[in-house]
Amino acid sequence: MQRLSAFCATLLGSLALTTASAAPNERNIVLVTLDGLRIQELFGGLDEVIAGAPEAESGIYEIDVTRKRYGRATAQERREALMPFFWKTLAPAGMVLGNQALGSKVTVRNNQWFSYPGYSEILTGAPQPEIKSNDFVRYPHETVLDYVHRKLNLKPTEVAQIGSWDGFKFAASQKDGTFFMSGAYGLVPPELSTPEMDLLGRMRQQVIENWEESSNDALTFHIALGYLKKNKPRVLWLGLGQSDDWAHARRYDRLLDYLHLADGFLAELWQTLQSLDGYRGNTTLVVTVDHGRGRTPADWADHDFGIEGSQDIWIAIIGPDTPALGEVKNFPDVTQSDVAATMLQYLGMDYREFNPKAGPPVPGSLKAD
Ligand SMILES: [Zn+2]
Repeated sequence: MQRLSAFCATLLGSLALTTASAAPNERNIVLVTLDGLRIQELFGGLDEVIAGAPEAESGIYEIDVTRKRYGRATAQERREALMPFFWKTLAPAGMVLGNQALGSKVTVRNNQWFSYPGYSEILTGAPQPEIKSNDFVRYPHETVLDYVHRKLNLKPTEVAQIGSWDGFKFAASQKDGTFFMSGAYGLVPPELSTPEMDLLGRMRQQVIENWEESSNDALTFHIALGYLKKNKPRVLWLGLGQSDDWAHARRYDRLLDYLHLADGFLAELWQTLQSLDGYRGNTTLVVTVDHGRGRTPADWADHDFGIEGSQDIWIAIIGPDTPALGEVKNFPDVTQSDVAATMLQYLGMDYREFNPKAGPPVPGSLKAD
């Protein structure tokens, strides 16, 4: 129906008629990825299987503090305590897939179950079997970011990848320099930056994180917000990584604190989008994950092929063209390969032209009106 109203608007343009909603190819897409955030925490909040395990396995320093913050009687109360914006605002106004307890399953199709293969599957719409490491190399697959940039003739600044890990920069495009890409510690070039973004960028080089490869998500997030306001990208991919870092560090308490913080990033991002002309009511936010992790106290900190649970992921969508289905129940199985086509449908673009092997859009994710 979006397509039809765009057609009508063109047809009747000489009569100065306008449509209330933007034509689909005028929409914006923001993709946010939260590296390795398990379905257990997203749908159930604090997981007692992990929190109640011996300290050597949970890594929780003060269990009373953690339980006071995030321990509640029911899964619904726990997840709302952990991620209040996600569950009270985003989910009811959009759709959330992947709660296996309700009969909604989202899995990765690649057989690696770690980051680069996951991001590549998200961005190319299919598993890419030659990707078997997180090495910082580019692969010759057009990504959905490349495709939108090419097909809509966008300026290099109008498609942007900003994230806390250099791997995002390599997964974003088959070619360096196609559009704006920013790795873990890179500074935004002066013509695209502001004094505030410059300061955040310098701080990002100074704040020491758990692992040398990753920078601080709070700083990355605010750099991305600055970029959004200044350069008005049509498509932005914000890659956050500390959910994976704290889990690998086996600190369940810090992981939960981080997820609460990241929920605040989503809230600020969504509120900022609704405060900006061009984005308000015209932007779809897709939030998803590259892989899950283990399900047990022994292996929750890890992921990889063979660690059961690493294949289980989730997808959340909110935007002007997404029905308010909330948390979906008894839903057809969906895969990580379906994210790219879902993004393209909101821009009125055909995923089969992008990649004939790509998964289809998530069923029912486009409003019928
Ligand atoms: Zn990862």
